[in-house]
Amino acid sequence: MTESPKGQPQDHLTVQRQALLETLASEQHYHETPTLVYGPHNPLEVALAACDTCFAGGNLERIFKGKSAPRWQVICKGCGRKGSDLVRDRHTASLLWNGVNLQTQCYADLPLFGLAGLTPRDAHNRIRHIRANLVLRIALCDIESQMHNAGISGKKPGADYRVRLDAYLKWCMLAHRLIKVARGKSCPSVKAAELSATE
Ligand SMILES: [Zn+2]
Repeated sequence: MTESPKGQPQDHLTVQRQALLETLASEQHYHETPTLVYGPHNPLEVALAACDTCFAGGNLERIFKGKSAPRWQVICKGCGRKGSDLVRDRHTASLLWNGVNLQTQCYADLPLFGLAGLTPRDAHNRIRHIRANLVLRIALCDIESQMHNAGISGKKPGADYRVRLDAYLKWCMLAHRLIKVARGKSCPSVKAAELSATE
């Protein structure tokens, strides 16, 4: 076996990659991860929530500035409130908008992660562990991209795969926000879940 000099960047990346693979394949991670199947809904498709201020709908707008690629932003059709700064992806703009307009949404109705019927506490635990798995897989993607770019490995993760993982992570963040506000809120699906949990 040929030993390469220590301290080189590729050693560092190889070690990091190996550690991530070991964590992902560990028994503990397997038992803690509730699912890798989040549902058939395309995470890049986001139905816009109503505005918390005026309850009008949001409008996803494509904005051009100079010669750079277009950016996205959701702006309320009623009061003109913006959901975020300009961002690169339309789904990111939509999820950021939904993340600051929580009143008309309920975590149990999200089209991903199977949260219907779960109490806020159970939904929180489920999302926490799904999120932990996504963070690991995104880190692995980034390291493998770096290794590919440095000529260490021929395998480069697909760009679409990375975008989808990132979108799922943003959905998790939205879910966490919705779970936080759900406690004490009169959402029928949450009340039903809490009731059946106490029976
Ligand atoms: Zn508005």
